[in-house]
Amino acid sequence: MKKIALIGSTGSIGTQVLSVVSKHPDKFKVISISAGENKDLFLKQVKEFSPKVATLKSEIDVSQFNNTEFYFGKDAFLNAVISEADLVVVSLVGFTGLKAVIKAIELKKDVALANKESLVLGGKLVTSLAKQQGVKILPIDSEHSAVWQALNFDFNANFKKIILTASGGALRDWDLNSLKNARAKDALNHPNWVMGKKITVDCATLVNKAFEVVEAKWLFNASFENIEVVLHFESIIHSMVEFNDGAVMAQLSSPNMELPISLALSYPNRIETNVTPLNFVALGSLTFNDVDNERYPCFKTAVEAAKKGKAYSAVLNGANEKAVELFLKDKITFGQIEYALKKALDSFTGGDETTYQGLELAQSFGENIVLETF
Ligand code: MG
Repeated sequence: MKKIALIGSTGSIGTQVLSVVSKHPDKFKVISISAGENKDLFLKQVKEFSPKVATLKSEIDVSQFNNTEFYFGKDAFLNAVISEADLVVVSLVGFTGLKAVIKAIELKKDVALANKESLVLGGKLVTSLAKQQGVKILPIDSEHSAVWQALNFDFNANFKKIILTASGGALRDWDLNSLKNARAKDALNHPNWVMGKKITVDCATLVNKAFEVVEAKWLFNASFENIEVVLHFESIIHSMVEFNDGAVMAQLSSPNMELPISLALSYPNRIETNVTPLNFVALGSLTFNDVDNERYPCFKTAVEAAKKGKAYSAVLNGANEKAVELFLKDKITFGQIEYALKKALDSFTGGDETTYQGLELAQSFGENIVLETF
Protein backbone atom coordinates (compact mmCIF):
# COMPACT_ATOMS: atom_id res chain seq x y z
CA MET A 1 0.00 0.00 0.00
CA LYS A 2 1.54 3.28 -1.11
CA LYS A 3 0.73 6.21 1.20
CA ILE A 4 0.14 9.43 -0.67
CA ALA A 5 0.29 13.06 0.43
CA LEU A 6 -1.69 15.16 -2.05
CA ILE A 7 -0.80 18.84 -2.13
CA GLY A 8 -3.43 20.53 -4.29
CA SER A 9 -6.45 18.23 -4.13
CA THR A 10 -9.27 20.23 -5.71
CA GLY A 11 -7.77 21.31 -9.04
CA SER A 12 -7.85 19.46 -12.34
CA ILE A 13 -4.87 17.18 -11.54
CA GLY A 14 -5.68 16.79 -7.83
CA THR A 15 -9.19 15.49 -8.49
CA GLN A 16 -7.86 13.07 -11.09
CA VAL A 17 -5.24 11.79 -8.62
CA LEU A 18 -8.06 11.04 -6.18
CA SER A 19 -10.04 9.29 -8.86
CA VAL A 20 -7.05 7.01 -9.61
CA VAL A 21 -6.72 6.31 -5.88
CA SER A 22 -10.44 5.43 -5.66
CA LYS A 23 -10.07 2.96 -8.50
CA HIS A 24 -7.19 1.17 -6.77
CA PRO A 25 -7.96 1.06 -3.04
CA ASP A 26 -5.72 -1.99 -2.71
CA LYS A 27 -2.70 -0.05 -3.97
CA PHE A 28 -3.01 3.51 -2.67
CA LYS A 29 -4.11 5.35 0.44
CA VAL A 30 -4.34 9.14 0.65
CA ILE A 31 -3.03 10.17 4.06
CA SER A 32 -3.07 13.94 3.63
CA ILE A 33 -4.78 16.45 1.37
CA SER A 34 -4.36 20.15 0.90
CA ALA A 35 -6.68 22.57 -0.89
CA GLY A 36 -6.95 26.28 -1.56
CA GLU A 37 -10.30 28.00 -2.03
CA ASN A 38 -12.74 25.23 -2.92
CA LYS A 39 -14.07 24.40 0.56
CA ASP A 40 -17.12 22.41 -0.56
CA LEU A 41 -15.08 19.96 -2.61
CA PHE A 42 -12.45 19.89 0.15
CA LEU A 43 -15.06 18.80 2.72
CA LYS A 44 -16.38 16.16 0.36
CA GLN A 45 -12.86 14.81 -0.12
CA VAL A 46 -12.15 14.73 3.63
CA LYS A 47 -15.35 12.78 4.13
CA GLU A 48 -14.55 10.30 1.37
CA PHE A 49 -10.84 9.71 2.04
CA SER A 50 -10.55 10.38 5.83
CA PRO A 51 -6.97 11.62 5.56
CA LYS A 52 -4.81 11.89 8.65
CA VAL A 53 -4.09 15.54 7.83
CA ALA A 54 -6.09 18.06 5.81
CA THR A 55 -5.35 21.73 5.15
CA LEU A 56 -7.22 24.65 3.62
CA LYS A 57 -6.37 28.30 2.97
CA SER A 58 -9.20 29.78 5.01
CA GLU A 59 -10.62 28.52 8.30
CA ILE A 60 -13.95 26.62 8.22
CA ASP A 61 -16.02 24.54 10.61
CA VAL A 62 -14.73 20.95 10.70
CA SER A 63 -16.22 19.86 14.01
CA GLN A 64 -17.98 16.95 12.28
CA PHE A 65 -14.65 15.18 11.66
CA ASN A 66 -12.85 13.40 14.50
CA ASN A 67 -10.14 11.44 12.74
CA THR A 68 -8.46 14.21 10.75
CA GLU A 69 -6.01 16.86 11.93
CA PHE A 70 -6.79 20.22 10.28
CA TYR A 71 -4.57 23.19 9.51
CA PHE A 72 -5.68 26.49 8.04
CA GLY A 73 -3.81 29.40 6.48
CA LYS A 74 -1.79 30.51 3.47
CA ASP A 75 1.14 28.17 4.19
CA ALA A 76 -0.95 25.44 5.87
CA PHE A 77 -0.33 23.15 2.87
CA LEU A 78 3.17 22.55 4.20
CA ASN A 79 1.58 20.66 7.12
CA ALA A 80 0.23 18.14 4.61
CA VAL A 81 3.75 17.21 3.50
CA ILE A 82 4.16 14.55 6.19
CA SER A 83 6.85 12.02 6.95
CA GLU A 84 4.42 9.05 6.90
CA ALA A 85 3.96 9.52 3.14
CA ASP A 86 5.70 7.25 0.62
CA LEU A 87 5.03 9.69 -2.22
CA VAL A 88 4.22 13.40 -2.21
CA VAL A 89 2.10 14.53 -5.16
CA VAL A 90 2.47 18.26 -5.77
CA SER A 91 -0.34 19.54 -7.98
CA LEU A 92 -0.66 23.06 -6.61
CA VAL A 93 -0.77 25.73 -9.26
CA GLY A 94 1.75 28.53 -8.99
CA PHE A 95 5.07 29.42 -7.48
CA THR A 96 4.21 28.41 -3.88
CA GLY A 97 4.19 24.77 -5.02
CA LEU A 98 7.98 24.98 -4.89
CA LYS A 99 7.83 25.22 -1.08
CA ALA A 100 5.98 21.89 -0.89
CA VAL A 101 8.51 20.26 -3.22
CA ILE A 102 11.43 21.50 -1.15
CA LYS A 103 9.86 20.23 2.08
CA ALA A 104 9.11 16.82 0.53
CA ILE A 105 12.70 16.48 -0.67
CA GLU A 106 14.01 17.51 2.72
CA LEU A 107 11.91 14.70 4.23
CA LYS A 108 13.55 12.36 1.65
CA LYS A 109 10.25 11.66 -0.16
CA ASP A 110 9.89 10.97 -3.87
CA VAL A 111 7.81 13.69 -5.51
CA ALA A 112 5.23 13.18 -8.25
CA LEU A 113 5.32 16.60 -9.82
CA ALA A 114 2.54 18.42 -11.62
CA ASN A 115 3.66 21.87 -10.49
CA LYS A 116 5.61 23.39 -13.39
CA GLU A 117 6.95 26.38 -11.53
CA SER A 118 9.03 24.14 -9.26
CA LEU A 119 11.30 23.23 -12.16
CA VAL A 120 10.84 26.27 -14.38
CA LEU A 121 11.86 28.69 -11.63
CA GLY A 122 13.58 26.45 -9.14
CA GLY A 123 15.06 23.76 -11.41
CA LYS A 124 18.59 24.25 -10.15
CA LEU A 125 17.51 24.32 -6.52
CA VAL A 126 15.16 21.34 -6.78
CA THR A 127 17.39 19.02 -8.81
CA SER A 128 20.50 19.63 -6.72
CA LEU A 129 18.53 19.12 -3.49
CA ALA A 130 16.91 15.94 -4.88
CA LYS A 131 20.32 14.55 -5.85
CA GLN A 132 21.74 15.35 -2.44
CA GLN A 133 18.82 13.65 -0.65
CA GLY A 134 18.66 10.69 -3.05
CA VAL A 135 15.01 11.20 -4.06
CA LYS A 136 13.31 11.05 -7.45
CA ILE A 137 11.18 13.67 -9.17
CA LEU A 138 8.53 11.73 -11.13
CA PRO A 139 6.85 13.70 -13.92
CA ILE A 140 3.06 13.97 -14.18
CA ASP A 141 3.15 16.33 -17.13
CA SER A 142 2.16 14.18 -20.15
CA GLU A 143 5.15 15.20 -22.30
CA HIS A 144 7.70 14.46 -19.61
CA SER A 145 5.96 11.26 -18.69
CA ALA A 146 6.31 10.29 -22.36
CA VAL A 147 10.04 11.06 -22.35
CA TRP A 148 10.46 9.19 -19.07
CA GLN A 149 8.75 6.14 -20.61
CA ALA A 150 10.78 6.42 -23.83
CA LEU A 151 13.92 6.40 -21.66
CA ASN A 152 12.67 3.26 -19.95
CA PHE A 153 12.33 5.21 -16.67
CA ASP A 154 16.08 5.86 -16.57
CA PHE A 155 16.77 9.51 -15.70
CA ASN A 156 20.47 9.01 -16.44
CA ALA A 157 20.06 7.38 -19.86
CA ASN A 158 22.08 8.68 -22.79
CA PHE A 159 20.15 10.21 -25.66
CA LYS A 160 20.71 12.58 -28.54
CA LYS A 161 17.57 14.67 -28.49
CA ILE A 162 14.24 15.12 -26.73
CA ILE A 163 11.37 16.01 -29.05
CA LEU A 164 8.43 17.56 -27.20
CA THR A 165 5.11 17.69 -29.00
CA ALA A 166 2.68 20.62 -28.75
CA SER A 167 -0.99 20.72 -29.68
CA GLY A 168 -0.74 24.39 -30.65
CA GLY A 169 -3.62 25.47 -28.41
CA ALA A 170 -7.08 26.79 -29.16
CA LEU A 171 -6.01 29.62 -31.50
CA ARG A 172 -3.73 27.61 -33.76
CA ASP A 173 -5.93 28.09 -36.83
CA TRP A 174 -6.66 31.80 -36.35
CA ASP A 175 -5.32 34.19 -38.95
CA LEU A 176 -2.40 36.23 -37.64
CA ASN A 177 -4.19 39.58 -37.80
CA SER A 178 -7.15 38.63 -35.63
CA LEU A 179 -4.98 36.59 -33.23
CA LYS A 180 -3.73 39.68 -31.38
CA ASN A 181 -7.29 40.65 -30.48
CA ALA A 182 -8.44 37.21 -29.31
CA ARG A 183 -10.20 37.08 -25.95
CA ALA A 184 -10.33 34.62 -23.05
CA LYS A 185 -13.35 32.68 -24.34
CA ASP A 186 -11.49 32.01 -27.60
CA ALA A 187 -8.28 30.78 -25.97
CA LEU A 188 -10.13 28.51 -23.51
CA ASN A 189 -11.58 26.35 -26.22
CA HIS A 190 -8.77 23.73 -26.28
CA PRO A 191 -9.10 21.16 -29.09
CA ASN A 192 -7.68 18.07 -27.32
CA TRP A 193 -7.18 18.43 -23.58
CA VAL A 194 -9.47 19.39 -20.71
CA MET A 195 -7.38 21.36 -18.20
CA GLY A 196 -7.42 24.31 -15.82
CA LYS A 197 -7.99 27.79 -17.32
CA LYS A 198 -4.52 29.20 -16.68
CA ILE A 199 -2.74 26.30 -18.39
CA THR A 200 -5.20 26.33 -21.31
CA VAL A 201 -4.24 29.94 -22.02
CA ASP A 202 -0.56 29.01 -21.63
CA CYS A 203 -1.15 26.36 -24.31
CA ALA A 204 -2.52 28.97 -26.70
CA THR A 205 0.50 31.26 -26.18
CA LEU A 206 2.83 28.23 -26.06
CA VAL A 207 4.33 29.60 -22.84
CA ASN A 208 3.35 26.22 -21.43
CA LYS A 209 5.56 24.52 -24.02
CA ALA A 210 8.47 26.86 -23.28
CA PHE A 211 8.09 25.91 -19.61
CA GLU A 212 8.08 22.26 -20.60
CA VAL A 213 11.38 22.74 -22.44
CA VAL A 214 12.85 24.02 -19.17
CA GLU A 215 11.25 21.18 -17.18
CA ALA A 216 12.74 18.64 -19.60
CA LYS A 217 16.15 20.23 -19.32
CA TRP A 218 16.19 19.79 -15.53
CA LEU A 219 14.40 16.43 -15.29
CA PHE A 220 16.53 14.67 -17.88
CA ASN A 221 19.75 16.64 -17.50
CA ALA A 222 19.58 17.91 -21.10
CA SER A 223 20.81 21.12 -22.67
CA PHE A 224 18.55 23.54 -24.53
CA GLU A 225 20.24 22.53 -27.81
CA ASN A 226 19.10 18.93 -27.29
CA ILE A 227 15.42 19.76 -26.86
CA GLU A 228 13.20 20.36 -29.87
CA VAL A 229 9.50 21.23 -30.08
CA VAL A 230 7.18 20.19 -32.91
CA LEU A 231 3.53 21.01 -33.35
CA HIS A 232 1.46 17.86 -33.43
CA PHE A 233 -2.21 18.76 -33.67
CA GLU A 234 -3.65 15.34 -32.84
CA SER A 235 -1.99 15.01 -29.39
CA ILE A 236 -1.45 11.28 -29.89
CA ILE A 237 2.34 11.22 -29.63
CA HIS A 238 3.03 12.80 -26.25
CA SER A 239 6.77 13.23 -26.89
CA MET A 240 9.77 11.39 -28.27
CA VAL A 241 13.42 10.66 -27.65
CA GLU A 242 16.02 10.27 -30.38
CA PHE A 243 19.08 8.14 -29.64
CA ASN A 244 22.63 8.20 -31.02
CA ASP A 245 21.97 5.36 -33.46
CA GLY A 246 19.08 7.21 -35.08
CA ALA A 247 16.32 5.28 -33.28
CA VAL A 248 13.38 7.32 -32.02
CA MET A 249 11.15 6.11 -29.17
CA ALA A 250 7.74 7.71 -28.88
CA GLN A 251 4.92 7.28 -26.39
CA LEU A 252 1.45 7.23 -27.90
CA SER A 253 -1.98 7.14 -26.29
CA SER A 254 -5.31 8.92 -26.32
CA PRO A 255 -4.95 12.35 -24.69
CA ASN A 256 -6.03 11.59 -21.13
CA MET A 257 -4.14 12.67 -18.00
CA GLU A 258 -5.22 9.51 -16.20
CA LEU A 259 -2.30 7.71 -17.81
CA PRO A 260 0.61 9.93 -16.68
CA ILE A 261 -1.04 10.37 -13.27
CA SER A 262 -1.49 6.62 -12.78
CA LEU A 263 2.08 5.96 -13.85
CA ALA A 264 3.55 8.54 -11.47
CA LEU A 265 1.59 6.92 -8.62
CA SER A 266 2.25 3.30 -9.54
CA TYR A 267 5.87 3.54 -10.79
CA PRO A 268 7.76 1.23 -11.22
CA ASN A 269 4.62 -0.72 -12.19
CA ARG A 270 1.87 -0.03 -14.70
CA ILE A 271 -1.76 -0.28 -13.60
CA GLU A 272 -5.13 -0.48 -15.39
CA THR A 273 -6.67 2.80 -16.56
CA ASN A 274 -9.79 3.84 -18.47
CA VAL A 275 -7.74 5.44 -21.24
CA THR A 276 -9.38 4.68 -24.60
CA PRO A 277 -7.15 2.33 -26.62
CA LEU A 278 -5.83 3.80 -29.86
CA ASN A 279 -7.41 2.73 -33.12
CA PHE A 280 -4.69 3.44 -35.67
CA VAL A 281 -6.83 2.80 -38.71
CA ALA A 282 -9.47 5.24 -37.49
CA LEU A 283 -6.76 7.79 -36.65
CA GLY A 284 -5.53 7.83 -40.22
CA SER A 285 -2.57 10.23 -40.31
CA LEU A 286 -0.59 12.13 -37.74
CA THR A 287 0.75 15.59 -38.64
CA PHE A 288 3.81 17.58 -37.55
CA ASN A 289 4.80 21.22 -38.04
CA ASP A 290 7.44 23.73 -36.98
CA VAL A 291 6.66 26.28 -34.30
CA ASP A 292 6.00 29.54 -36.12
CA ASN A 293 7.60 32.45 -34.22
CA GLU A 294 5.15 34.94 -35.64
CA ARG A 295 2.18 32.97 -34.37
CA TYR A 296 3.78 32.07 -31.05
CA PRO A 297 6.06 35.00 -30.06
CA CYS A 298 5.66 34.19 -26.34
CA PHE A 299 7.32 30.81 -26.88
CA LYS A 300 10.56 32.38 -28.06
CA THR A 301 10.45 35.04 -25.36
CA ALA A 302 9.96 32.46 -22.60
CA VAL A 303 12.69 30.11 -23.87
CA GLU A 304 15.11 33.02 -24.22
CA ALA A 305 14.37 34.10 -20.66
CA ALA A 306 15.23 30.59 -19.47
CA LYS A 307 18.45 30.55 -21.51
CA LYS A 308 19.55 33.79 -19.85
CA GLY A 309 19.50 31.87 -16.57
CA LYS A 310 19.58 33.57 -13.17
CA ALA A 311 16.05 34.48 -12.08
CA TYR A 312 14.80 35.53 -15.53
CA SER A 313 12.31 32.66 -15.68
CA ALA A 314 10.89 33.77 -12.33
CA VAL A 315 10.29 37.28 -13.69
CA LEU A 316 8.72 35.84 -16.81
CA ASN A 317 6.50 33.55 -14.76
CA GLY A 318 5.37 36.38 -12.49
CA ALA A 319 4.55 38.55 -15.50
CA ASN A 320 2.79 35.69 -17.24
CA GLU A 321 0.66 34.80 -14.20
CA LYS A 322 -0.56 38.37 -13.86
CA ALA A 323 -1.04 38.87 -17.60
CA VAL A 324 -3.07 35.66 -17.93
CA GLU A 325 -5.12 36.66 -14.88
CA LEU A 326 -5.96 39.99 -16.57
CA PHE A 327 -6.63 38.21 -19.86
CA LEU A 328 -9.04 35.80 -18.15
CA LYS A 329 -10.85 38.80 -16.64
CA ASP A 330 -11.12 40.22 -20.17
CA LYS A 331 -8.99 43.23 -19.21
CA ILE A 332 -6.30 42.66 -21.84
CA THR A 333 -6.14 41.03 -25.25
CA PHE A 334 -4.19 37.94 -26.30
CA GLY A 335 -1.54 40.10 -27.99
CA GLN A 336 -0.96 42.10 -24.83
CA ILE A 337 0.26 39.01 -22.99
CA GLU A 338 3.42 39.03 -25.09
CA TYR A 339 3.88 42.75 -24.57
CA ALA A 340 3.66 42.17 -20.80
CA LEU A 341 6.28 39.40 -20.84
CA LYS A 342 8.76 41.44 -22.89
CA LYS A 343 8.32 44.52 -20.77
CA ALA A 344 8.97 42.63 -17.52
CA LEU A 345 12.09 40.94 -18.90
CA ASP A 346 13.48 44.17 -20.35
CA SER A 347 13.22 45.88 -16.96
CA PHE A 348 15.05 43.13 -15.06
CA THR A 349 18.76 42.71 -14.39
CA GLY A 350 19.40 39.19 -13.08
CA GLY A 351 18.45 38.37 -9.51
CA ASP A 352 19.32 35.29 -7.45
CA GLU A 353 17.96 31.91 -8.52
CA THR A 354 19.69 29.86 -5.83
CA THR A 355 17.28 30.60 -2.97
CA TYR A 356 13.49 30.59 -2.58
CA GLN A 357 13.63 34.22 -1.44
CA GLY A 358 15.57 35.31 -4.52
CA LEU A 359 13.06 33.62 -6.80
CA GLU A 360 10.14 35.09 -4.87
CA LEU A 361 11.56 38.59 -5.31
CA ALA A 362 11.97 38.10 -9.06
CA GLN A 363 8.48 36.62 -9.36
CA SER A 364 6.89 39.66 -7.64
CA PHE A 365 9.02 41.97 -9.77
CA GLY A 366 7.41 40.43 -12.87
CA GLU A 367 3.92 40.61 -11.36
CA ASN A 368 4.36 44.27 -10.42
CA ILE A 369 5.56 45.38 -13.83
CA VAL A 370 2.37 43.94 -15.36
CA LEU A 371 0.15 45.52 -12.70
CA GLU A 372 1.80 48.90 -13.29
CA THR A 373 1.46 48.55 -17.07
CA PHE A 374 -2.24 47.74 -17.38
MG1 MG B 1 2.06 19.17 -20.73
